[in-house]
Amino acid sequence: MGKIFYNKCYLCEIKKDRPDNFEIDHLIPVSNNEALKYEWRNLYLCCMECNGYKSDEFINILDPCQDDVELDIIYELMPIDHQPRFYASSPQNKTINNTVTLLEKVHNGDDVKSINKTASLRNAIDRRAKQLMQAMLNFFRANAKEDELAKQKSLREIKEIVSRYSPYTMLMRSLAREYQFEDLFD
Ligand SMILES: [Zn+2]
Repeated sequence: MGKIFYNKCYLCEIKKDRPDNFEIDHLIPVSNNEALKYEWRNLYLCCMECNGYKSDEFINILDPCQDDVELDIIYELMPIDHQPRFYASSPQNKTINNTVTLLEKVHNGDDVKSINKTASLRNAIDRRAKQLMQAMLNFFRANAKEDELAKQKSLREIKEIVSRYSPYTMLMRSLAREYQFEDLFD
């Protein structure tokens, strides 16, 4: 499991050292279907926080192992308050909309308590985004100065941050895409 999910929560993409630091979530809630309880394709690594937010009302959500969540959802980091935002690429699609609602909830909260509780996740994402912005800026500067060594160094750094093995890949990739660094995606 840890290998498939790169030791990341499948909802917020927080990364932990070991898969046993996570809980196991049933993608499709098992309350109405006992057979799904031990079906491994229905088991997802999930952090404790996200597992708490994902109640059984979220029956129909995208499956990150089957669906192309990078295309189905538009990811954005707001420039002023640094809030991650999620939009459905096809607004009529109920599954995508449900997933967007859930992602909004786990990242931004939806009441006073959860807004406070999710702040540390937003801060961690913001720190990572700043690292990425700095690496991209370093690349453009090195490029202008034709400093090949510095260029390679910043490219390696960007590549690491947008890798699927790293935390918050979807959000980091949306940022890197704006500056045309898609070639570095693994
Ligand atoms: Zn999570």
